[in-house]
Amino acid sequence: VTRVVSLNPATNTERALEIDETSPQDVAVLCARASSIAAQYGAWPLSRRAEMLRTMAAELEADAASLVEVAMEETSLPRARLEGELRRTAYQLRFFADVVVEGSFLQASIDHATNSPMGPLADLRRMKTPLGPVAVFGSSNFPFAFSVPGGDTVSALAAGCPVVIKAHPAHPATSQATFDALERGAKIAGAPEGVLGLVFGFDSGVALVDDPSIRAVGFTGSGPVGKALWARANARPTPIPFFGELGAANPLVVTAAAAAERAETIGAGVAGSMTLGVGQFCTKPGIVLVPNGEHGDALVEALVGALRELHEMTMLAPGIARHFRDGATSIAESAGTRRLVGGDAEVGSQARAQLFEVSAITFVEPSSRPLREECFGPLAVVVRYDDNEQIRQALDIIDPSLTFSVFAAADDPDATWLIALGASKAGRVTFNEYPTGVGVSWSMQHGGPWPSTTSPATTSVGASGIERWLRPITFQGIPMDLLPEALKDDNPLGIPQRIDGNYPG
Ligand code: NAP
Repeated sequence: VTRVVSLNPATNTERALEIDETSPQDVAVLCARASSIAAQYGAWPLSRRAEMLRTMAAELEADAASLVEVAMEETSLPRARLEGELRRTAYQLRFFADVVVEGSFLQASIDHATNSPMGPLADLRRMKTPLGPVAVFGSSNFPFAFSVPGGDTVSALAAGCPVVIKAHPAHPATSQATFDALERGAKIAGAPEGVLGLVFGFDSGVALVDDPSIRAVGFTGSGPVGKALWARANARPTPIPFFGELGAANPLVVTAAAAAERAETIGAGVAGSMTLGVGQFCTKPGIVLVPNGEHGDALVEALVGALRELHEMTMLAPGIARHFRDGATSIAESAGTRRLVGGDAEVGSQARAQLFEVSAITFVEPSSRPLREECFGPLAVVVRYDDNEQIRQALDIIDPSLTFSVFAAADDPDATWLIALGASKAGRVTFNEYPTGVGVSWSMQHGGPWPSTTSPATTSVGASGIERWLRPITFQGIPMDLLPEALKDDNPLGIPQRIDGNYPG
């Protein structure tokens, strides 16, 4: 057996935890256990499911002080950030409790038997039902909000699915501690054993994706790993949906009018956004389009000045810092690229902010591919353009992203077409606002077209995230007393029901 090791990236010291890596046999046991109680848990009344989520939130909050300590040690993220992230994570649990009780996620629809223009139509009633056990892979950069107690776990539990979670190796102790809090919440709520499981180790993740009891996978992480696991999930004898939230270059366009109006403010703002959380955000703006000319120069100068003021930073793990350095090196070695900030030889998990500049003409060259890919960390590429045609060409060659940001002036002639272009290339378009920071709400979309997301019709953040863990089913000609409550005519759950095509009231 291999012991799980927790690494402090700031001091580069390791400590062995009292946890063993999970063997494939143990993964199979956990998945079978989840499968054995899936129907029972899925049939819980909505109010009871919601109550469990609220209890889990309270249990996380009860442990807040110690959870933040352990996460600080493993991630080097500052206290205030982790405290905020934990608050957001507890809020997310309560938010999904409300989503469950509100009930529109069931998409209950009732078509009474009728004589239609195409002939008699039977009584048809459609709703969503839970898929069954779900596997969740959290990411390194949000040890709470996108990890064990994060959006994938919570939305799957809200949907009525048991969850088996793969702990991220960059924060195993945090994973165990947050899991313990969730499990206490499940126990208090009287949930059957098996509604939650946690596995450790590389092989356990692979075994999880392959396990026949698992009915869907939620993954947050890097593009290459996400695509490999997506292919694996599809190559199973019974393929399953794989919801991968991956990385992206997230372009940010500054129009000529915006640069003329407030170059310094935008330059400083971009510096803050691209280095937030040491640039370890999937929504980090990685490509910044800036006009040529004096206003663009002033913007870049402000950006450079703000970045130069920053000290060395500690990344989440030495492997992530190594990837970051490799990415920066490939960009630096790309023909026609100028390095404006950075370049020191860092060691271990340490990194410095990096900024590169390139012309829009060079940017679209085939050899400039490294400039157009996500480099996870505090790095951005400034692309200098002459005209709108060059903006179009540069954006055309960039892969679709999670976010697309437009910085424009009042009555800017370029605002409309850029927003429309952004909507065709990303899951969220921000206007004069930085893309970093993803709010939990009914209207949030977090996920863009492939390759930023493996399943672009869905979101991993916000109320609609629950839809990933459900499948629709139509009941035909079923007597009223045998129908699920959500589909009964007297609507005992009080949920939104579409009746003969319309929502009453
Ligand atoms: P990662 O390296 O892809 O790791 C994610 C998970 O996959 C870990 O549990 C990892 O654990 C496992 N894994 C790695 N290689 C594997 C393989 N070949 N087969 C099976 N499992 C494997 O990503 P990360 O370091 O956690 O996060 C950084 C990336 O996540 C960035 O690209 C960032 O943009 C993205 N991200 C996206 C979002 C979003 O919502 N779109 C949010 C946050 C982060 P092991 O090392 O044990 O294998």
